[in-house]
Amino acid sequence: MIRRVLYSFTGTVQGVGFRPFIYRIASKLKLHGFVQNSPGGVRAEVEGPDEAVHRFLDDVRQTLPPLAEITGISSEEIPVREEPGFFIRESLQEGDRHIPIPPDSATCDDCLQELFNPDDRRFRYPFTNCTNCGPRLTIVSGIPYDRENTSMACFSLCPECRQEYETPFDRRFHAEPNACSLCGPTLQLLDADGRELQVDDPLQEAVERLLSGAVIAVKGLGGFHLAVDAKNDQAVRELRQRKFREEKPLAVMVRDMETALQLCEATKREQALLESPERPIVLVRKKKFTTLAPSVAPGMPDLGIMLPGTPLHHLLLENISSALVMTSANRTDEPICTGNREAVKRLYGIADFYLVHNRDILVRCDDSITMVAAGDIRLMRRARGFVPNAVPLQEPLPGVLALGPHLKATVCIVKGDRAYLSPHIGDMETPQARDFFHESVDLMQNITQSTPGVIACDLHPGYYSTRAAADMQAETVIPVQHHHAHIVGCLAENAATGPVIGIAMDGTGYGEDGHIWGGEFLIADTCSYTRAAHIKYFPLPGSEQAIREPWRIAAALLQSAFPDDWKEKAHSLDLPDREGALDTIETMLRKNLNCPRTSSLGRLFDGVAALLGIRRKVSFEGQAAMELEAASVQTNGSVLPFLINTDEIPFQLDFSPLIRDIVEKRRAGGSTAQLAASFHLTLCHAFADTAELLRQKHSLSRVALSGGCFQNRLLLERCKEELGKRSFKVYTHRLIPTNDGGIALGQAVCAGTRIKNNPTERQTTP
Ligand code: ZN
Ligand code: ZN
Ligand code: FE
Repeated sequence: MIRRVLYSFTGTVQGVGFRPFIYRIASKLKLHGFVQNSPGGVRAEVEGPDEAVHRFLDDVRQTLPPLAEITGISSEEIPVREEPGFFIRESLQEGDRHIPIPPDSATCDDCLQELFNPDDRRFRYPFTNCTNCGPRLTIVSGIPYDRENTSMACFSLCPECRQEYETPFDRRFHAEPNACSLCGPTLQLLDADGRELQVDDPLQEAVERLLSGAVIAVKGLGGFHLAVDAKNDQAVRELRQRKFREEKPLAVMVRDMETALQLCEATKREQALLESPERPIVLVRKKKFTTLAPSVAPGMPDLGIMLPGTPLHHLLLENISSALVMTSANRTDEPICTGNREAVKRLYGIADFYLVHNRDILVRCDDSITMVAAGDIRLMRRARGFVPNAVPLQEPLPGVLALGPHLKATVCIVKGDRAYLSPHIGDMETPQARDFFHESVDLMQNITQSTPGVIACDLHPGYYSTRAAADMQAETVIPVQHHHAHIVGCLAENAATGPVIGIAMDGTGYGEDGHIWGGEFLIADTCSYTRAAHIKYFPLPGSEQAIREPWRIAAALLQSAFPDDWKEKAHSLDLPDREGALDTIETMLRKNLNCPRTSSLGRLFDGVAALLGIRRKVSFEGQAAMELEAASVQTNGSVLPFLINTDEIPFQLDFSPLIRDIVEKRRAGGSTAQLAASFHLTLCHAFADTAELLRQKHSLSRVALSGGCFQNRLLLERCKEELGKRSFKVYTHRLIPTNDGGIALGQAVCAGTRIKNNPTERQTTP
């Protein structure tokens, strides 16, 4: 019997060699019909004997191209047409535009081989790619993903490239960014003023200048990097000085795994992550003795390292036996540069030279940052290689645009049963970052082809994104509390809806009571929450200043732990007391002057790091906590006293006894490592004890862990272990960051659920 079936495939099926793949299977089975991209995915009509049609679907399922992923297949029996042959048709423009573009993908082995083969016509061509690899999202101007909707549109294919592009059995069949040295993008080296240098080989010239200590801005996939020789301490210091980046660790790129293993102790899992097509930065334990300049990642046990992800990077690193620092090309709190002229303007005074090319970057996309912790891959920054892959949701929700938090911002659109997060935007402190924020909203609306009428935002009235929400004149604006959003994000990516005991441990988030929350136990589902317990409030003398100068927090902790003789204790711990600083703090505390109250675990970390003399002033967020974690490796520590006050609702988690104990032990000569480890261990026991009390009260045995503090590997692993021991089911983040980079997802799912459960909420714009 002859049948004709219309198959619709959804998932990552565009720009990944899916149509030629379908073509090959259909031709092999002698089926007739066609395949084409549609805004909803890929559709194929196949006609032939019943048996062959069956085989077709089996073969599709079993031999998918490496970058393709099918999330849905629908089939429909349609009338037989008796048209001979099988064709690849032009794209359909209409229909439900549900399908976005695939993420950028690292150079595949086949392309790599060609790149270094002197007999190949693409020998040393820095823009080599194929259907299995290359730029995707970052060159896209619209959908569907066809060449005319990319920044390759202005390059017309040479006869040979065209032939590859049109030959179904070629690896470059419909590889949209296909190019060669005859017809494709080319490199240029510019001087500090943006003038082109007349050199034979811009790349070779750039390498030589790098090796003699220059700072070179290199145009990558989603933006520029600033590169310097990572073994040249003076060059690294120079870069830090020009970029005003004092101590924050810098990422490096090495040419291959062998070189990576000379610098760090990557496990098999970490090695696989380094080599994955997403090609992220991976935080890996640094080796003790390496060729790296000390100024690359001072004071940190981990090194952020990545392997080359583009032919250009492979060529750049080819003769560099050590590593290159490759840090995002931007000034503090500004987004990464993408345009050639933009780079020359914004990086003036930072870069000595610019290695650029004429393939435009259309979507700003930073490097992703990952690590392996508690047995899973964790994302600290989700961007290149991961975006715009969807987070699948458990159920379809009404469309929502979520505008995210203020720091480590991303935005998110929910469409149907998928959530799409934007690339990492960063901290919304500069006009450039705010422009990037609007750029990201447009991007996500464009690739999801939706403009949701519901907008979700943070509860904080002062955030730029909150004000932007009001300005957008949506039919509904739904503010979501920061830590609730954290927990909902965690539930959503675990395909759970709650209720759970949500443990959100964080820097800061605006609380319903106007205080700064950040050590929260919420009984939460994706719709609502109650605050069941929190870390007992403590004051932040000087507010923002206390965040930069954790010794102030230490002083406040001492004052409440030892009201009678705290200053004497402070002196014995060497807290700074220049010009009566401690008296000033005392006055501020007594009169409650600029001393906002907080339950933030992040700030408690800062305070304890200062008490232990690890760090009293920080130059970047999280620095004190990172060093406190670093101090505690290789010791176990012991559980120190703490108190859970259940007389009050919410329960109060009181760490004054812990502070007292740490201070006494410190004065008695206790080691920093031991006390830092004990601090971590005590937190985990305190959280697990609190969770047990809440389990009794609410009959819940599932826990969701979220918030920036769980980027701390030790805290995450020990908490998970301790909760596991007490038979809790523990949800953690794997697909999205546990830090504020995941907030937009939580906001979107929370708002979507509320609208779904209560459609009248649509009318209640605040
Ligand atoms: Zn390839
Ligand atoms: Zn060509
Ligand atoms: Fe947060």
